[in-house]
Amino acid sequence: MKKILLIIIVCFAVFTFSSCINESKNVTRQTFALDTVINITTNKEDSERINEAFTLLREYENVFSRTKPESKLSLLNNGQGELTEDIEKVLSFSLEMSRFTDGAFDVTVAPLVDLWNVKERNTAPTAEEIEIARSKTGYEDVTLSPFSLGGKTIDTGAVAKGYIADKVAESFKDKGVESAVIDLGGNVVLIGEYKVGIRNPFSPDEIFATITVKDKSAVTSGAYQRYFEYEGKRYHHIIDPRTGYPSESGVASATVISPSSMQADALSTSIFILGKDSISLCDNFPDTEALIIMENGEVITTENFEEKYELKK
Ligand code: AMP
Ligand code: MG
Repeated sequence: MKKILLIIIVCFAVFTFSSCINESKNVTRQTFALDTVINITTNKEDSERINEAFTLLREYENVFSRTKPESKLSLLNNGQGELTEDIEKVLSFSLEMSRFTDGAFDVTVAPLVDLWNVKERNTAPTAEEIEIARSKTGYEDVTLSPFSLGGKTIDTGAVAKGYIADKVAESFKDKGVESAVIDLGGNVVLIGEYKVGIRNPFSPDEIFATITVKDKSAVTSGAYQRYFEYEGKRYHHIIDPRTGYPSESGVASATVISPSSMQADALSTSIFILGKDSISLCDNFPDTEALIIMENGEVITTENFEEKYELKK
């Protein structure tokens, strides 16, 4: 079987890609969807599949986007529309994650995400504003049967890209694609074997280490992805619902490798919020490993990470 080795950078919103072998046989196309930069690479003969994937992404955007008022999720949050199969799957898994993490991962975090609005804000909200938003969160009030949001607002930003990446990979495999890199803003799924570069969170244009990954997803959550700075402090996009502030667990970035991109996505966000000891969360998921880079430079991995993925610094 053809073995293709590629180097990619697992990151958010930026993507660097260079193939070592067979470069002339590959094609990469880029688009902007799901509020991020999307890059998909396949063999040239499968290039039509990329266009199909882009169409699929637009369809999912109309399901999960919170910035589109007519999306299925927006309608649901506004008390209209019904629970679609996709939303139910993502919501059900998210509620499980919320219970696993004792609410550090909270799919009802929307009021805090909107308040912090790190894309547009350049000053921190007041403690009172934070408390008001925090009081509107709480995954415990959401039930699936019977379905009720319990007055809460759902944000699937920490998990939907993983779910969608899995769906794109599934459709590729169904159509016989044997090698592809599906990169939804750093939420990466690999069909085939690749060298993956983990971004240095302190110098995001550089690679911290490389790993070799086959037929799995690699997802990184980091404080360098979306943030603003105010009075010398960085306020990033991952909120700790227990405090109402951007999390301060000492983690600079958390990378999770798993057969399921949805699980890797939710886990990387959860570990980023909960800190290094929560790396043991990976034990609850099959064949799932993690690498954490702490703000003090310390690197922590699950037991089998280095050996399994040929970690090279
Ligand atoms: P990620 O980049 O996958 O780590 O996810 C970050 C996104 O998840 C944010 O932009 C929010 O939309 C959402 N989010 C932020 N904090 C939380 C949280 N505590 N639990 C669940 N989702 C969150
Ligand atoms: Mg995530």
